[in-house]
Parts: sequence; C-alpha cells; structure tokens
Amino acid sequence: MEHIQNGQCGLCTHFGETHSSSPALVTIMKSHEAPLNMVDECGHPKNATLHLKVTPISGCDGFTPAAQA
Ligand code: SF4
Repeated sequence: MEHIQNGQCGLCTHFGETHSSSPALVTIMKSHEAPLNMVDECGHPKNATLHLKVTPISGCDGFTPAAQA
C-alpha cells in the first residue's frame, strides 16, 4: 500500500469517476492508502475521451478534491 497525498489521483474526484462509489475507491478516500498496482480511468473532461488510465499516485493540474465519504 502507498500513502496518497492531496493532489494525487487517488484523492481526485475524477479518479474512477464513473464508479466512484466502488468499495476500493471509497477505501482510498477514507484511508489515504492505495495498492501500488492499481490503475483506473481519469474522468476529467480533457482526458476522458483519451481513456487515460492513471495510478493513485499519479497527478495533474486538473486535480479536484473528491468529496469525503
Ligand atoms: S489525472 Fe488529474 S484529473 Fe485525472 S484523476 Fe489524476 S489528478 Fe485527477
């Protein structure tokens, strides 16, 4: 498990946006920890059409904090 900080995909509202209530994503929100081998789609409007896949420790300037569960 890897610690996820503010600004990283794992805590961004766009990380796995289409299934944001999935248990794995909710767990990351609560614990700020994520598996190293995880990838999910970025739903940011500028990336969605590219089907960009990111890891929880990735990041970009489009970061938007996800609402805390
Ligand atoms: S790539 Fe940027 S917009 Fe997409 S999930 Fe990561 S921080 Fe959020």
